[in-house]
Amino acid sequence: MKAPKTHNIYSPEYECMSRDALRELQNERLRRVVKHEYDNVAIYRERMDAKGIKPEDIKTVDDLRYLPFTNKTDLRDTFPFGLLAVPKRDIVRIQGSSGTTGKPIVSGYTENDVEVWTEMVARAIVAAGGGKDDIVQVCYGYGLFTGGLGAHQGATRIGAMTVPMSSGNTQRQILMMKELGSTMLCCTPSYAIYIGETVRDMGLDPKKDLRLKSGCFGAEPWTEEMRQRLEELLDIDACDIYGLTEIAGPGVSFECLEKKGMHVNEDHVIPEIIDPVTEEPLPYGTAGELVFTTITKEGMPMLRYRTHDICVLHDEPCACGRTTVRMGRITGRTDDMLVIRGVNVFPSQIESVLVSVKGVSPFYMLIVDRVHSTDSLEVQVEIEENSFSDTVSALENIRNEISEKVKSVVGISAKITLVSPKSLPRSEGKAKRVIDNRKL
Ligand code: ADP
Ligand code: ZN
Repeated sequence: MKAPKTHNIYSPEYECMSRDALRELQNERLRRVVKHEYDNVAIYRERMDAKGIKPEDIKTVDDLRYLPFTNKTDLRDTFPFGLLAVPKRDIVRIQGSSGTTGKPIVSGYTENDVEVWTEMVARAIVAAGGGKDDIVQVCYGYGLFTGGLGAHQGATRIGAMTVPMSSGNTQRQILMMKELGSTMLCCTPSYAIYIGETVRDMGLDPKKDLRLKSGCFGAEPWTEEMRQRLEELLDIDACDIYGLTEIAGPGVSFECLEKKGMHVNEDHVIPEIIDPVTEEPLPYGTAGELVFTTITKEGMPMLRYRTHDICVLHDEPCACGRTTVRMGRITGRTDDMLVIRGVNVFPSQIESVLVSVKGVSPFYMLIVDRVHSTDSLEVQVEIEENSFSDTVSALENIRNEISEKVKSVVGISAKITLVSPKSLPRSEGKAKRVIDNRKL
């Protein structure tokens, strides 16, 4: 069952604000946060002093470009409390990054920060069709990772019946889903696909046996093709949701049921796109690195935080009525870009090739190695159950098709290995797609 395309809005007074009024609000909040950082956080004060900037110099969003950037390394270097802008006793929550790209980092939240984050996720769940009558099954991991608690708080806030399953134990997830009649799902897209496959393996029919209608899926990059597959597998509407620990957690931006980009919660964060090399701001419509400034956060606010995520921002009006800027899909992270024989390769490029080939599943692993000082790339991909018994020449055709497409899209040749269905490891959280043996 798909969600009816109603466009309910949790905070219309902010989400549908006129652009001028929103800009005014951002300007005022920006001035406040810059002063708060300058007065309370040594790193920011030192960096602004070094650039000869005083808080009074930052008057509007247009002045953002004069502020220093914040990097993940700053959080690591000052770990755990060096970037706190309030006394430690005002912090009521610690959450941590999942550490996809190295040593974990933590962020501290005041009571108000938890409140703001909760509201951001509430907006997201409502935008995906959620409301008080829903039963929301949360299968993001609970713990330091922001996924579980974030979705939990948001679902509870809108008065939905919240089912804190956390990730894992997939068959039990599905039994609960069936017995409770869960209507919404919140988890990573790769785990949702795994749940969908397991539903089929258990001989269940989502149309008859489940009551799911939609879900908020995020915390890792995914493609339009994966969305289609997920929507078919579970017979739902699958909306994208984005966030990161440093800024709040999930809910920084989210898709409405139009599914045409993620609305940024601009009354709480200001997004920018920059050229990752020159660090110059880029106009809407141009792909680059996403940078956020938090304007309501108290505990550990961030000025111009470099996410390393690559995407496009655009401000075309959306049919849902929200006036906020939207982000396109994250097409890669500057820090998960692989350089193979001098060519920049993003796992998402390979994924887009694989999902366009009939007979293979979206589960894959990239194995990068260096033999006699030459880089090699192997793409392991699972073939689908119904192609498994194909003739050798049919499989050979699949392999050739992938090989040619990878060469034309990515620009390098790769060894393609077809592996049997469900043989690659499944993740219950963020999927691991790359093994780079050159780093060992
Ligand atoms: P990390 O993965 O860096 O350890 P987090 O758990 O805070 O830390 O995850 C934040 C990161 O996850 C983002 O910077 C982004 O790379 C990725 N991410 C989150 N949501 C999405 C999404 N909807 N699409 C693509 N990537 C996402
Ligand atoms: Zn919309």
